[in-house]
Amino acid sequence: MTDSPLFEIHHETCIKCYSCVRICPVKAIKVDVNTEFPSIIRERCIGCGSCYMACSPAAITYRSSISETRELIASGKKVAAICDPAISGEFHDITDYRKFVQMIRNLGFAYVTEVSFGVDLVARGYKELLEDFKGKYHIMANCPAVVFFIEKYYPELISNLAPLVSPMVAAAKVIHQCYGQDIKIVAIGPCIAAKDEALRFEGDGKIDSVLTFVELRQLFNEFNIRESHLEFSEFDAPLGNRGSLYPISNGILQAVDINEHLLSGNIITTEGRNNMLNAVKEFDTRIDLIRRHFNIFYDDGCLMGPGTSQGGEKFLRHTLVTEYANKRLKTLDPDAWKRDIDGFSGLDLNRIYSADDQRLPLPSEEKIDEVLRMINRQDQKNNEIGCESCGYSNCRDFAIAIAQGLATTDMCHIFSGRNRQEYIRTLRTTNEKLAKTQEALRISEEKAKHEKESQQETSGLISSMLQQLVSGVIIVDENLRILHANKAFIRILGEEAAMVDEVIPGLEGADLKSLLPIHFYKIFSFVLSSDESVERKDVQYGSGILNVSVFPLRSKKFVGGIIRDMYMPEVYKEQIITRMKEVIDQNFDMVQKIAFLLGEGAAKTEQMLNAIIESHQSQNKK
Ligand code: SF4
Ligand code: SF4
Repeated sequence: MTDSPLFEIHHETCIKCYSCVRICPVKAIKVDVNTEFPSIIRERCIGCGSCYMACSPAAITYRSSISETRELIASGKKVAAICDPAISGEFHDITDYRKFVQMIRNLGFAYVTEVSFGVDLVARGYKELLEDFKGKYHIMANCPAVVFFIEKYYPELISNLAPLVSPMVAAAKVIHQCYGQDIKIVAIGPCIAAKDEALRFEGDGKIDSVLTFVELRQLFNEFNIRESHLEFSEFDAPLGNRGSLYPISNGILQAVDINEHLLSGNIITTEGRNNMLNAVKEFDTRIDLIRRHFNIFYDDGCLMGPGTSQGGEKFLRHTLVTEYANKRLKTLDPDAWKRDIDGFSGLDLNRIYSADDQRLPLPSEEKIDEVLRMINRQDQKNNEIGCESCGYSNCRDFAIAIAQGLATTDMCHIFSGRNRQEYIRTLRTTNEKLAKTQEALRISEEKAKHEKESQQETSGLISSMLQQLVSGVIIVDENLRILHANKAFIRILGEEAAMVDEVIPGLEGADLKSLLPIHFYKIFSFVLSSDESVERKDVQYGSGILNVSVFPLRSKKFVGGIIRDMYMPEVYKEQIITRMKEVIDQNFDMVQKIAFLLGEGAAKTEQMLNAIIESHQSQNKK
């Protein structure tokens, strides 16, 4: 029998509703703070199956024993089925229990026997134990979930657990005694925790596989076994007696007439998750005042165990169990039963338990306070009542679980609701801000677009104007590459530049060094590096002279140049006039001095020079 985890949570199906976390009586389900997926802490689990029953998307499954059972049957070895009497509540769709017995035989089981006989044996053991009262009160140990709970969470109560095996294990011992040690045993019942319980027994108590009723139904379907094809068949001996009442929680007491009368009896029977938790807690703290034995079942009786078909109706099952018990009793041979019971009276039903303390250390008060503050529940620190929607009975217990790493703050609806509202508020504000930013962005984009268009337009106009000038105009960048050159510049540079212009219109991007002679080029590089202008400098170019003005447009970034061909008639005349004026201005003082010395000669010189100017100006006008 495999010992893989009893329950598993499948994240692909899990919807993170945390119903499992809330219902787990021992907080064996931890929520990962990163993935937010729950997972079962195997060591803490008591196998109750509450999480499995609570998980509506069926994300929780339990360890299947179907293939194991199939293999046992196919092995060729003799396999005996031991059937829990809760079959009467589960298989009410099968008209007669004898049909049910035959259906199991048809699966390939060599023997089909009843756990009821094991119940009869164990019940006798309890009767003896309780009648032989030596001052110690006992907790009956038939429910494996209760046994696991005490071993893990109340290990100090282990000595109060009745030292008797469960009816399932007792039935296995009977089968081994009847059919030998080699017989394989498959228990069929309503309990999932029994799968883990069976792992603890070897020798004559060994059980090779534990099938739930749901798994048995799957096998019937797989093998296409229907009662309509089958004849009646009786259980194999030894047959049970009032042990058939075992699926009802006080059935085991009534099986041997243990006195449960409220006035004269000294045993309390209770069932169900919360009653079980409270019963063990009170047994621990108040047994000196309670002074009763406890007969406790985790489920609402085995008839409602998690291995039964879901949706079962408790009181219908209750009736079906009692009717079945009555029917069996009518046909039971009491003498044969007595002989069987006496025959097995020597069977060793003793059991020992082992502590497996899973209690976590209590966090410090400071830590608990810190968590309560974090979830805004510090006002609830001493309040022992809570909404319980987180799965804990009060906010303090919840804070302890968070501090122990078992729970996350989001499991508190109030906290997560508040967080959600806060989140929505923040989201709304962010959205509004975003909308405003988007609008501002749109306006600024539009503005930038207009500016760009207007710049392009202006640039186009300037470019057209530059193209009309007779002087050459050039703008270069920081690498002395041409950004703009007008037609006059290309023309002034001559043929070579005109050829480049054909390939690169406007010489855009051309290296100035490759177009100008070095002395000319150096003027530009000087202006670029020094940020100083060079004005109206005559530069020898080929056989002509160019008048060059170069000036920084933006410091160390752009440099502009105006180049005039001194041999162009317009430039030539203008230049002569300008230069003549300069000559006159510069030499006027000297001329006056000479005139003063030469008298009339000076006046004639002035007249003569003015005549030359006028003659040039009139030519220019023409
Ligand atoms: S109950 Fe099921 S679906 Fe919900 S959190 Fe638990 S495993 Fe996931
Ligand atoms: S089986 Fe029970 S104890 Fe185990 S995780 Fe599920 S609810 Fe918790």
